[in-house]
Order: sequence, then structure tokens, then C-alpha cells
Amino acid sequence: MEAVKATAEGVKAVNAKKVKAFGTEAATAPLNQLNIQRRKPTPHDVEIEILYCGVCHSDLHTARNEWHSTTYPCVPGHEIVGKVVSVGNHVTKFKAGDLAAVGCMVDSCRQCDYCKEGLEQYCEEGNTGTYNSPDKHLGTQTYGGYSESIVVDEAFVLRVPENLDLAATAPLLCAGITTYSPLKHWNVGPGKKVGVVGIGGLGHMAVKLAKAMGAEVIVFTTSPSKVEDAKRLGADDVVLSKDEEQMNRYAGKLHFVLDAVSAQHDINAYLNLLRVDGSLALVGAPEHPLPVAAFSLIPYRRSFAGSMIGGIAETQEMLDFCGKHNIVSDIEMINIQQINEAYERLLKGDVKYRFVIDMASLKNKHAEQAKNN
Ligand SMILES: [Zn+2]
Ligand SMILES: [Zn+2]
Repeated sequence: MEAVKATAEGVKAVNAKKVKAFGTEAATAPLNQLNIQRRKPTPHDVEIEILYCGVCHSDLHTARNEWHSTTYPCVPGHEIVGKVVSVGNHVTKFKAGDLAAVGCMVDSCRQCDYCKEGLEQYCEEGNTGTYNSPDKHLGTQTYGGYSESIVVDEAFVLRVPENLDLAATAPLLCAGITTYSPLKHWNVGPGKKVGVVGIGGLGHMAVKLAKAMGAEVIVFTTSPSKVEDAKRLGADDVVLSKDEEQMNRYAGKLHFVLDAVSAQHDINAYLNLLRVDGSLALVGAPEHPLPVAAFSLIPYRRSFAGSMIGGIAETQEMLDFCGKHNIVSDIEMINIQQINEAYERLLKGDVKYRFVIDMASLKNKHAEQAKNN
């Protein structure tokens, strides 16, 4: 517990309080209960009791230091929904008792061109991630949603549509916006044929969102077992990507392809599906570079692109869109004490399609048992 103690002592402001969380103190250590500091709300802050937190693959990458940038202790979680407990006296958008959500960012410079345009995710100074970023208030790193509560500037807090299932809303804050933003940017809508590659946490959201935007949606998957499910999610057609004949049916036919696969795969096979001026955007992040053939791009003036989450205003737009179209994630609820097991299943793709942690479990007797074991 040395690291936790050191963090508590390293806290700049005395205006902080100790809260329960679940995290890890080393890349190879399992997640377990620990205590972290949260600042007392400043005049622009919203204090949120966390009710549910989605489990994103980035949580696992960060907890295990797979991107070589983790500061410990690490408390992951950036798909956060909960209830406002208190607000600072300059807060205008929220009051105690309101539902609220927090996604992948809790701050940015707010001065640069990108921040002014609502593209805080691409802030020139780097956005402040919800976890594992330098905490401007406490001088530690930021801690995410695997915790009792979080304190966030209201400019980075989202409103939650009241009609949606709250637990299933949590994954919208990362998986939802990560797919909504590129679909919007590349003008997906009626009359457009859109390919979604890979049906997992991101891909299943992309299918629902693209369908609700009015596009014709074609899912590409390697697993025959996912064909029926993709159709249930709204796909107009499902193509087994290993079947060349099926792939050829869509050669040069698609306006846009959203690629949500993080394993190695042949990107040229998907670029070849694009029409003239079509674009393929990556939201999955394979570990190794993907070879791109020049002649997958040149003859059709195709674009190969990427996209990262979305800005705050766009995240609110996405939540409102989901409220209007009754869109949530397909989830499997877990207790926080099952998080290590959930990570192992996540690695095998064994979840339909997002784990969401019932944060009430952090307070229950199982939590005490886990601590004593
Ligand atoms: Zn995420
Ligand atoms: Zn900025």
C-alpha cells in the first residue's frame, strides 16, 4: 500500500477527501480495492456519485501499462454515469439529484483553436484524460470511474437522457462517441452504404448508430457465429470477410467504412470496398503498422483515416441522439470484484458487448471480503 500512501501525501491541495476505488499499483498486479483522493468541488465543479462504469479495452491496456505511459496507482474507467451529489456555486447546468455522465476527458486547455472549435479531444496541449493524466488540481494523476465518486468541471460533464436504461448508457461515453463522431464527420446518413468491420464493444454501437442515421449498414466479420447477432443489431447485410466471393459483392460499393478491429488484419481488403472518394476510418488500434498498398487508394481517390473519441458538445449531441432513437449498448453487468475476470474475458472477446460495473458493489460486503482475502 506504499504507493497509495505516497499519493495521499503528495496531494497539493488539502481540500481533498478520501474515497474508495478499485485499481492497481503495478502492471502485473490484479485490480483491488484502494483509496484515492478527490478534490472538494471548486465553484465550477460537479461532484458525482458513480452508479455505473463501463469497461473499455483502454482500461485494460492502461492498468497493465501496455502503452508504456501508466502512473500507479491506476484507477481506470471512462464510461461513467451517476447522480450529482453537490455542485460548486458557479455551476449552472447541474443541481444535486440530476443524472450526469463523464466520458474520456475531464479537462483541456480551452484556449487553442481545437478547444474553441469543440474538438477538445485534439487539444494542442493534450486533453486531460479521465484517468492516468496529470491532475491540474491535486498534482497527482487523474483517477477514473472505478470509484465511489468523481469531481469534474461542469464544462466536461454531460447530461443523460432520462428515458434510457442508465447502466446500458455508460458505454455510450466511450464506445458510443468513438463511433458516432466518425460516422457524423464522414456524413453517414440516408442513401449511404456503410461498412462496419468487427462486431465488439465499438462495432456493435457503430451498427446501431449508423442504422439510426438512416444508412444502409453492412457488417464484416470473421465469425459465422456473429452473423445473426449483427442482423439483430440492425445490419442490412453481413459479410464473412474470409469469403472472397462475399467480399467481391461490395468491391467499390461503399461510401464509408468504420474499422473497429484491433487485431492485425488486411486493410487493403476493406479499402477496396470503397467507392470513388470513399473513406475508411480506423477506430481500432492494432499494435503493429498496417501495410497499405498505394493502388488500394490511388485509382478511386480513396482516403485512409483515423478518429479519436469526440468533443464535449458532440458527446452531448450523441447522448441526445441516443435518447431520441432509444439507443443503448448491449451490456453484461458485473460487480467490481469481478473486474480481473472480466479483463480476461475481454481479451478473448467473450462479452456481448460491453461489461458495465454496478458501482454499488464497491460498497457491499463482497468488497470487504475481497479486501480481506
Ligand atoms: Zn474507452
Ligand atoms: Zn486546447
